[in-house]
Order: sequence, then structure tokens, then C-alpha cells
Amino acid sequence: MRESSRRHFLTTVGISAVAVPINALLFNDVGHAQEAPKLDEGDPQAQALGYVHQSDNPEQLCKGCQLYQGEADAEWGPCVIFPGKTVNANGWCRSWVVKPG
Ligand code: SF4
Repeated sequence: MRESSRRHFLTTVGISAVAVPINALLFNDVGHAQEAPKLDEGDPQAQALGYVHQSDNPEQLCKGCQLYQGEADAEWGPCVIFPGKTVNANGWCRSWVVKPG
């Protein structure tokens, strides 16, 4: 292999080696909050806070709670109280706090 060909090869391999992990970070949904497991109503912490997937009170829904971090149109989203899990946008628990605004 000529020196310039080898240099070109090594440069291309080096760029690819860097590009693949960056690409994985940018486009891989692993760890994306929307894909976290759904909180089970039977989870001990959920039960301790009275969490339910469907609130009895339309004025107090997870999507209207300050601690809810889901997208506005998402059915499930993360909550500060239950890290690593998602809660139903129409759910509720005793930690509900009105979202300002
Ligand atoms: Fe829903 Fe409770 Fe989380 Fe508020 S704190 S988003 S009411 S689970």
C-alpha cells in the first residue's frame, strides 16, 4: 500500500470510528425518556403516593403537574418523583402540584 493510500485509509477509518459513536448518541433512542418503562400502579412507591393511571379529577392530571416532564402530546412521560419510569399523562398521585402558567 502506498503511503498516501495508507494515510487516506487510516484517516477514513479514524473518522468512521468517531462518527459511529456520535451518530449513536444523536439518533439512538436507547435511554430516551419516552421509552422508559411505564410505572406500575402496584409499585410500592406508586402505592405510597396513591398513583393511578387515570385521575378521578380532570383538574388534576399528571400532564398539568409541575413535576411532569412529558411532551405535551405524549400519552406517557417522565416524572421527577418516579425516575426511570413514565407516568400516564392522565394519571395522578398525592404529589400533584399545579403547573405554573
Ligand atoms: Fe403525576 Fe404525581 Fe408525577 Fe405529578 S408527581 S406528574 S401527579 S405522578
